[in-house]
Amino acid sequence: MQGHRDSILAAAAAARDATARTLSDIVKIPSPSGGEEKVCRLIEALCLEARFDEVRIDGLGSVIARVGRGPRTIAIDAHIDTVGVGDPSRWQDDPFSGLVRDGLVHGRGCADQKGGAAAMIAAGRILKCIGYDGEFSISFTFTVLEEDCDGLCWRYLIEKEGLVPEFAVSTEPTSCRLYRGHRGRMEMRAVVRGVSAHGSAPERGESAAYKASRAALAMERLNGTLASDEFLGKGTVVVSKMDVRGPSQCAVPDQGEIYLDRRLTWGETAEAALAQAREAMGADAQSIAMPWYEGRGWNGASYGQELYFPTWKIPADHPLVKAGRATHDLLFGREPEMGKWTFSTNCVAICGRHGIPCIGFGPGDEDKAHAPNEHTRIDDLVASSAFYAMLPIVLGKDA
Ligand SMILES: [Zn+2]
Repeated sequence: MQGHRDSILAAAAAARDATARTLSDIVKIPSPSGGEEKVCRLIEALCLEARFDEVRIDGLGSVIARVGRGPRTIAIDAHIDTVGVGDPSRWQDDPFSGLVRDGLVHGRGCADQKGGAAAMIAAGRILKCIGYDGEFSISFTFTVLEEDCDGLCWRYLIEKEGLVPEFAVSTEPTSCRLYRGHRGRMEMRAVVRGVSAHGSAPERGESAAYKASRAALAMERLNGTLASDEFLGKGTVVVSKMDVRGPSQCAVPDQGEIYLDRRLTWGETAEAALAQAREAMGADAQSIAMPWYEGRGWNGASYGQELYFPTWKIPADHPLVKAGRATHDLLFGREPEMGKWTFSTNCVAICGRHGIPCIGFGPGDEDKAHAPNEHTRIDDLVASSAFYAMLPIVLGKDA
């Protein structure tokens, strides 16, 4: 174990510049959700060059690169799509510069989360260099469409491709802390119906605007009553969008819609959250349901699901968490800081829906995600690459 540790740390340090360059190259290629082909082709080429044991592209367009032939399986995941750049005037440099400066790599996706992808490629290279032949087959998954619908790519992998690992690691940014959960989420759409009448005689009609307003205020009250969890925090509900309309601006509106963003804490399910909202809105809402999302991969494949992303967490004393802590201690001489994400990740499908234990460990900071001037520390990339290479060895207790 100690021998592996020393060679992994040495290899990760020696690859420092190459790993930063890999991230820079990946960041230079824009990859909006559904438009990831070019970045997938580059990652495929980099994994082949690093002599991964198998590199393939799945039916939805994600790159699956395996190292090792062991009977047990672990997946290490990075989504490689990014959100847009927002207001370009907020960026000091071109968002796709991939600039390497002052120990940082700059550009859209550096933190969320191409840094994880670059560290994974480095980890695979390290494992091949040390001739890893242990208990695990390690699937490095570079997944698509996450920013539009987190977990959809992993539902596809599990349900359509039959990739069902024993453990999974998400490499979304944790500032190199060890994470073991986050709240789930769902979207809801309530339909409101009124009766239109001439604006000069509102008493003849039934206003969809007033119904929608009452329903929205009911959500404000509901938010105050939602359950809480010691580790994950409180469930929340937010009215994220409202729309009312009628036959004219001189009429009582007869149609309305309310969109809800619901964050789900431990024990809260979609069914229960729908029932709560339905009860709180009462007769003001005609119906309330989860919208459907239909994703289209860059290869033309389509796959859909309702907008529901189940909550997940695993216990602090779970064997995967213990192995993560031991790996950190072994490599860096101290226990990792523990925590959870505020945002949502692919673990909603891997752990929330399918019960496969997940942990999070990734380069970069969560608060840089979706923000201008996004960047990631090269030190984090090096540490993460060593962590991903060491973890399967610790889990397998391969000497
Ligand atoms: Zn992300």
